[in-house]
Amino acid sequence: MTNNGQQDQNFLLPEGSSRDIGRTAQRMNILAAKLVGETVRTTLGPQGMDKMIVDALGDVTITNDGATILREMNIEHPTAKMIVEIAITQEEEVGDGTTTAVVIAGELLKQAEDLLEQNIHPTTVIKGYRLAAKVSQKILENMSEKITAKDKHILNNLAMTAMTGKVAEDAKEHLGKIVVDAISHLEDSSNLKNIKIEKKVGSSVHKTELIEGIVIDKEKIHPSMPSKIENAKIILLNGALEIPTTETESKISITDPSQLQEYLDMEESMLKKQVNKLVASGANVVFCQKGVDDLIQYLLAKEGIYAVRRVKKSDLEKLASSTGGTIINNINDVTKEHLGKSGLVEEVKVGDEMMTFVRECKNARAVTILVRATTDHVADEVKRAIDDALGNVSSALANMSIVGGAGACEVELARNLRKFAETLNGKERLAVLSYAQAMEVIPRTLAENAGLDPVDVISDLNAAHQNGKKWAGLDVFSGKVLNSLKEGIVEPLKVKTQALSSASEVAVLILRIDDVIVAGADTSMKGNPHEDLD
Ligand code: ADP
Ligand code: MG
Repeated sequence: MTNNGQQDQNFLLPEGSSRDIGRTAQRMNILAAKLVGETVRTTLGPQGMDKMIVDALGDVTITNDGATILREMNIEHPTAKMIVEIAITQEEEVGDGTTTAVVIAGELLKQAEDLLEQNIHPTTVIKGYRLAAKVSQKILENMSEKITAKDKHILNNLAMTAMTGKVAEDAKEHLGKIVVDAISHLEDSSNLKNIKIEKKVGSSVHKTELIEGIVIDKEKIHPSMPSKIENAKIILLNGALEIPTTETESKISITDPSQLQEYLDMEESMLKKQVNKLVASGANVVFCQKGVDDLIQYLLAKEGIYAVRRVKKSDLEKLASSTGGTIINNINDVTKEHLGKSGLVEEVKVGDEMMTFVRECKNARAVTILVRATTDHVADEVKRAIDDALGNVSSALANMSIVGGAGACEVELARNLRKFAETLNGKERLAVLSYAQAMEVIPRTLAENAGLDPVDVISDLNAAHQNGKKWAGLDVFSGKVLNSLKEGIVEPLKVKTQALSSASEVAVLILRIDDVIVAGADTSMKGNPHEDLD
């Protein structure tokens, strides 16, 4: 792996260091990036397979989600890690398209390697790639189709496309509707935090439901409280229902038994006062962020009030958005105006746990998707698919633009890039052509994963696009060409622009490196990064 120049250079470094320079460095980095791409490639598309990852503790994750696979793999190679980063960014920015981003990054580098082999200088490749990346954003934008928030049918399709090829696929129509419904409740469709996802095993995915309100993973605090309250008037308290404790330590000295009784009576009357205040407000349900004194629990039960304690702050906030209530700090401040409203609050046994459902909130601005599945592994994967679908619908609503999937968008992009390349001269043109070629990795992989001949597929798709069929994509079941838009295989424009810009950025970043120095033994870096790859 060393050459003379490198040996001279190593002279500068302490023992135990390693160094790769020039083409060796590039080759190693490209190899690492390609390997990451190869790892997730087989999961792409409707016919993609799942991966099973077992962590150090023996916990198993079964998933089709690119970001989850790469995160769970704990990859250590520094270059490979950069590729993992783009999957994570994609997940955070859009939700869906993580595998696409990683596969494209790997392919861009693979194509770049061929150019380097032909003695084209990395600077030229970088220049060409940067240009192509910029032009691609424009091309994608120009080809995209506009939608409106009223196109429920298209929104459903966006959600369903995100779930195709995952465990959730069987129920994708049902889940797709839930996803679109859930988002329609939000005041701001990009604020997905107001959609709570609760998982409970013990039933089929088809039983997954949308609750126009919030589901809290907690039971009522006293067995004799009612299990069902209709026309609920709800107090949201972020304090405790207890005897107030003083900030500083205090001591009470009691000298005779009557004083003790007096003290206890005083405590009791303080607690009773809190309950009276609460009852006077007209409330029949209380969600309390902190503890509730035993006596208060008993008194509330006697008044027929439903109460839950130790509710998470985030849940309390969602309850406020759902019920229209105001969170109060102190029960003594409560008035009728603070109360939230819901058609029904009930305690329900789900699986083998009791949960509190706050249902039928009019104008609920926060809602819950209760994911049901037969096992934990399925529930986790269904939740990830729902996350992708929520991300897709939300990003489509953010800029109201969609593109056709099933490889259509990538083939159309490649075709336009090739046209653009014709306007360029020399080696830069070759780099843009390679970039265009790299786009075809998506339809090619969709074909490979479906057991189809990728060469035939690409040539059929190209022929269709030449004939002006902009949304011609691959029917992975028959191998024929389909109209992706008509078939409802659609994705938000953002999934593609984001995947492409981060894949291009990381490819350029990696191509710019011509020297990898792994410092000697006394640093925290683990070994030679290339060793993991052999
Ligand atoms: P990612 O993590 O990139 O979203 P997926 O495994 O979800 O990876 O696959 C997404 C790809 O599958 C997209 O290119 C999308 O257009 C394609 N796809 C989704 N549904 C279909 C379908 N019914 N037929 C063909 N391709 C599809
Ligand atoms: Mg996807």
